[in-house]
Amino acid sequence: MSLTEIRARIASAERAAGRAEGSVTLIAVSKVQPLDRVEAVLGEGHRVFGENYVQEAQAKWPPLRARFGPVEVHMIGPLQTNKAKVAVELFDAIHTLDRPSLAEKLARLAEARGSCPQLFVQVNTGEEPQKAGVLPADADGFIRDCRALGLPLAGLMCIPPEDQDSRPHFAMLAALAARNGLAGLSMGMSGDFEAAIAAGATHIRVGSAIFGARNYG
Ligand SMILES: *Cc1c(COP(=O)(O)O)cnc(C)c1O
Repeated sequence: MSLTEIRARIASAERAAGRAEGSVTLIAVSKVQPLDRVEAVLGEGHRVFGENYVQEAQAKWPPLRARFGPVEVHMIGPLQTNKAKVAVELFDAIHTLDRPSLAEKLARLAEARGSCPQLFVQVNTGEEPQKAGVLPADADGFIRDCRALGLPLAGLMCIPPEDQDSRPHFAMLAALAARNGLAGLSMGMSGDFEAAIAAGATHIRVGSAIFGARNYG
């Protein structure tokens, strides 16, 4: 699907939800996509991308930023603590803050740099054992601890279970964010971004619908 079509679908979902046009940020998820597809989307003027792997992003984005100018790159994959330093230098936002050790590391790095990427706390709304994210019951406490460390929290992020209706998960994330005074909601992917916009998403993460299927080879 073309970027133009995705933008049109986002605009109509915003209208249907009674939300202002442009209130949703489209993160084009470019992980493992061939460079020519990424360059094509940059060529169409898009400037917000998402990546899952620090090493891949580290190889890809400095040269693309040199050619295309400022590009916002969001980290949406699991972040190892030993990659946090590279991550704060490379990314404009990190959507996968999910544990105290990472929060403490990011706080130390932010203090040393005098700046910090936008941070989203990942919540494991489906309580799936294999999935990252704080459990819903632990979210309030973790958010409080992050704030006590001085971290600039932008919002919450979730990846609903693949085999379930996403809507109850989006609603749960929105409720958790509201009761913690957080404005950002990173939720919705290629298959469910319109439902996410209806539920209040501020950031949707769309990969295959823009770039085509990923080939992990
Ligand atoms: C890969 C990925 C996406 C994009 O998924 P699509 O189904 O291709 O849109 C979104 N969010 C996260 C966390 C991802 O890992």
